[in-house]
Amino acid sequence: MSGLSHSWQGPEPRSFLHGIHPAGHKEYSHKLAIERMPFVGELVLHLSQHIGAPARPIVAVGDRVERGQRVADPGGFVSVGLHAPATGTIKAIEKRLHPNGKLLDAIVLETDPFASQRLLAAAPFDPAAVTASEMVERMQLGGLVGLGGAAFPSHVKASVPKGKEVKAVVINGVECEPFLTCDHRLMVERPQDVIRGTRILMQSVGADRGYIGVEINKPDAIEALAAAASDGVVVQPLKVKYPQGAEKQLIKAIFGDEVPEGGLPLDLELVVNNVGTMAALADLVDRGAPLIERVVTVTGPAIKQPKNLLVPLGTPISAVIERCGGLTPSVKQVILGGPMTGMAQKSLDVPVVKGTSGIVCLDSVEVATREEYPCIRCGRCVEACPLFLNPARLAQIVKYEKVDLFEDYHLMTCFECSSCSFVCPSAIPLVQYMRMGKAMLRKHKAHKR
Ligand code: SF4
Ligand code: SF4
Repeated sequence: MSGLSHSWQGPEPRSFLHGIHPAGHKEYSHKLAIERMPFVGELVLHLSQHIGAPARPIVAVGDRVERGQRVADPGGFVSVGLHAPATGTIKAIEKRLHPNGKLLDAIVLETDPFASQRLLAAAPFDPAAVTASEMVERMQLGGLVGLGGAAFPSHVKASVPKGKEVKAVVINGVECEPFLTCDHRLMVERPQDVIRGTRILMQSVGADRGYIGVEINKPDAIEALAAAASDGVVVQPLKVKYPQGAEKQLIKAIFGDEVPEGGLPLDLELVVNNVGTMAALADLVDRGAPLIERVVTVTGPAIKQPKNLLVPLGTPISAVIERCGGLTPSVKQVILGGPMTGMAQKSLDVPVVKGTSGIVCLDSVEVATREEYPCIRCGRCVEACPLFLNPARLAQIVKYEKVDLFEDYHLMTCFECSSCSFVCPSAIPLVQYMRMGKAMLRKHKAHKR
């Protein structure tokens, strides 16, 4: 036990140290109720939609599958099941373009336009009647992953190793990335399910407290959750700051405690999860529904009709954009996820995956390229870094390939939040240097082995 206070510090909004305040741009979509995206003719289900081993197909080309039927098993412990988001026929199992830019294995499903699309749900179950390990297995087979964007398998976090204890679960309703509002709408529209999922997770990991962190720019979400919150669950208002949605910063903001370098929230007897994942857990337990769809924010100055859409997994981004009236002629870039940590897309012929929180369509004002100048040693990047790293110095040693110094400057702890790049007046692409440096260090270590 590492000295965690675990004491709630009261309802006053709080935050972590350092960080930045980018423009929120939430006004495009934060008041728009979630709408359902209709089924399209073809869904592309990538076997890698989560961190860890790809799922393993259990269907063959030509098979008829029902909506909600499992089509791939977990490919290992750090892996989850995959399900048909619609009733139809397996058309192919082949390589398709993934949002990460690679050609990866996918199950291609031709949807049946005449099917009722009734969900082939497993039976709902009483979470109090299953053991912790049964719950972990059900979460894994149900395909649950972190829906905040990272897509880390949720059952892994819910597996408490022998000798460890979880005192509290921390639920992330921060959504600090500019433009994104999918979590905000979910908290406003399904607060009971977020609370229900939180209580189920608490029960499963043996925690007696749950803290839901929400920034104060979402007062309606705070109000809705507080009204639905039951015993042991507290809604913690937080000051608006980026990157507060990162696990370690969220823990620091709520408890004032630091997760040790290289450590996990579990080292502080905590488990962190996302509000969307909690609603999905409630769906799994109370409705027997696996993860087959997610809320996606389609937003930005270059989309004609911004929306928060509930989208079947595997739906092409191009179809989602079309549903929102299409792109404006001013479009310069389409990003999956938020603009700080998301991925710019070269092609719109990629599908929505479990980690697709947003489709952000930017114009030339938002994507203006700035000319890079030499470092003026202003120190702003150091003040911005939530991990208290020295990004200017790190960029320099990466540039000159001083690989032996990388670990002295804690390069591998950088989680690529882009705060340093955002504040740099010389427009130095600091986060790119961090990525380059990490790749260099991995190669260097592999070479030494
Ligand atoms: S990208 Fe890395 S170095 Fe830059 S602010 Fe974020 S954590 Fe710090
Ligand atoms: S913010 Fe940019 S200019 Fe300022 S110290 Fe950091 S790298 Fe140098």
